[in-house]
Amino acid sequence: MEKVVIIRYAEIHLKGKNRNYFERIFAMNLERALKGIRHELHRTSGRYLVADFEEGQTDEIMRRISRVFGVHSYSTGLLVDADEGSIFAAAKTFAPTSGTFKVETHRGDKHYPLTSMEINARIGGRLLDAIPTLRVDVHAPEHTVYIDIREGHRALVFGSFEDGPHGMPVSTAGKGLLLISGGIDSPVAGFMMAKRGLTVEMLHFHSYPYTNEAAKEKVVALSKILSEYSLVTRLTTVKVTHIQEEIHKKCAAELNVTLLRRFMFRIAERIAARVGAKCLVTGESLGQVASQTMEGLTSSNAVVTLPVLRPLIGFDKEDIISIAKKIGTFETSVLPYEDCCTVFLPDYPAIRPKLSFIEEEEKKLDIEALVSEALESAEIIRF
Ligand code: ATP
Ligand code: MG
Repeated sequence: MEKVVIIRYAEIHLKGKNRNYFERIFAMNLERALKGIRHELHRTSGRYLVADFEEGQTDEIMRRISRVFGVHSYSTGLLVDADEGSIFAAAKTFAPTSGTFKVETHRGDKHYPLTSMEINARIGGRLLDAIPTLRVDVHAPEHTVYIDIREGHRALVFGSFEDGPHGMPVSTAGKGLLLISGGIDSPVAGFMMAKRGLTVEMLHFHSYPYTNEAAKEKVVALSKILSEYSLVTRLTTVKVTHIQEEIHKKCAAELNVTLLRRFMFRIAERIAARVGAKCLVTGESLGQVASQTMEGLTSSNAVVTLPVLRPLIGFDKEDIISIAKKIGTFETSVLPYEDCCTVFLPDYPAIRPKLSFIEEEEKKLDIEALVSEALESAEIIRF
């Protein structure tokens, strides 16, 4: 009898000819997620089994697997020889001591001599004999003991299913660059795109010394949480202080935010080329703040050629917050540190900035020199 974690995968099934490719990446992602924990990963049709791990690591393994996109559901279970005695012994460890139950068998190996119904009846009967306080209820049982007959005369026995994160295995959809602030939205945007299989590299802008070390630490902390899903363990930071000072000194105050965002996008496109990202990702949501109007979004798009993915575009703040809570970024996001966007914030930012006005104001700046200078400040933080 061997303790295992059973992993069932999801959408990957749909991918026809690409299935092998998807499965290979999925297995690789499982290995990356389990890095540092002694284990063996085995594949059986439609499932992966984590085996040979220390009992004390079970919870950590389950926690990590709960973040691997492509996982449909997962369970802790026992792998046994598929003879009745061994199955019964395993089933007994998952049976409750009182209340109602049923046995549910899935027969993956169609050559197995007993039908699913026969296995249910035999194992169920023996459990009733062994634990007289139990009752059978096949319609609405309080507990279910699951038996999964596998090829090679083996059986998996388990007592529950945990719902996985679903989605597509990370890196099956190419690579993007997330503009990550210390706020609530951008980590959620990164999570959403990783869930669709995108490898999410990260870029953060700071305006040291106006923003401090703690603000940076907060972004690193958020990136770390995101990396449990995206499996990317580095973050690029770029200093935009001089750009902000120049904008503040020379341009119309109501365009501060708009102009800064255009610089961020220009720099992001250059960093994307460095890390091999083929799109930008932001946490913008239509109408949420002055810079996220159609005109605001258009003015940032106008300075880049890469597509800009905005997975939160149609989300309410409450929806975003509830995802942030679920994925574990919310508490860090609400820590009170200054973001570079709040430095030199004008009293009345332009809500519908005209592109002609923006371009006129930008002529007062040496765009290329400022972008190059900022790029020189780029640092890669690995964690
Ligand atoms: P967030 O909660 O993600 O900070 P927000 O609602 O506060 O978003 P803005 O501050 O206008 O909105 O930022 C919009 C988007 O621009 C962010 O979601 C993020 O993708 C990007 N962004 C903003 N500030 C930064 C920064 N300092 N570094 C990198 N990207 C940033
Ligand atoms: Mg913000």
